[in-house]
Amino acid sequence: MSSTGRPEIEIRGLHKSFGDNEVLRGIDLDIGRGEVVCVIGPSGSGKSTLLRCVNLLEEPTAGQVFVGGTEVTDLDVDIDAVRRRIGMVFQQFNLFPHVTVTENLTLPQRRVLRRDKVEAFEVARRNLERVGLADKADAYPSQLSGGQQQRVAIARALSMGPEVMLFDEPTSALDPELVGDVLAVMRQLAAEGMTMMVVTHEMSFAREVADRVVFMDGGVIVEEGPAERVVGDPQQERTRNFLMRIL
Ligand code: ADP
Ligand code: MG
Repeated sequence: MSSTGRPEIEIRGLHKSFGDNEVLRGIDLDIGRGEVVCVIGPSGSGKSTLLRCVNLLEEPTAGQVFVGGTEVTDLDVDIDAVRRRIGMVFQQFNLFPHVTVTENLTLPQRRVLRRDKVEAFEVARRNLERVGLADKADAYPSQLSGGQQQRVAIARALSMGPEVMLFDEPTSALDPELVGDVLAVMRQLAAEGMTMMVVTHEMSFAREVADRVVFMDGGVIVEEGPAERVVGDPQQERTRNFLMRIL
């Protein structure tokens, strides 16, 4: 938190192995409050695992993660309390299919945050408006396009009042014509000062919105810096090869 003068997210010597497969091999990364960091890299380089270690969907093998100055990797930490502070949006939207859009936003608030009905509905309304879907409040997920469903997933995460938002390839499952609306919502969130870690292959988004781009390969950070340098003028051979393949 800024009150402590520390970065919003601090990752120190993070290692993660699955059996004898060492997927993260020592990650050190600070993300300041309000900063937007895009993480890029080849498939299998550990990007999802890194995000999942930040909100403890995976337990690191070694190292520390701090969010808002609290060590979330402390064994005594209240995992649910940590997760409440961290919103996560996945490639697959993971909406509850059998309830309305509004209920997708109100149920977690009521269950996890114990908000009363009136407050939960008001927060849901506000966040649906924020993502441009106020008119879909009573629809069911199956009645929405993929892009709309992803915006609902973002609104649902925002309804929990997170301090940071993690996005794992939020537009990868979308038809190309639906990508822009989701990126627009993310761009707006960034402009509002949300701290964001975004795994994405959308290089134009990274260039335009990210304060920093991190290139990962083989479980390490190979190169990081402002987008115009990492994407525009990469210093490492591995970064150049990756960018050449995707651009
Ligand atoms: P990326 O998101 O960059 O594509 P991931 O973090 O998903 O990479 O995966 C990195 C490596 O970790 C892959 O080799 C993958 O098979 C392995 N991995 C990820 N999650 C698990 C898991 N739950 N169990 C075993 N291996 C996993
Ligand atoms: Mg991944």
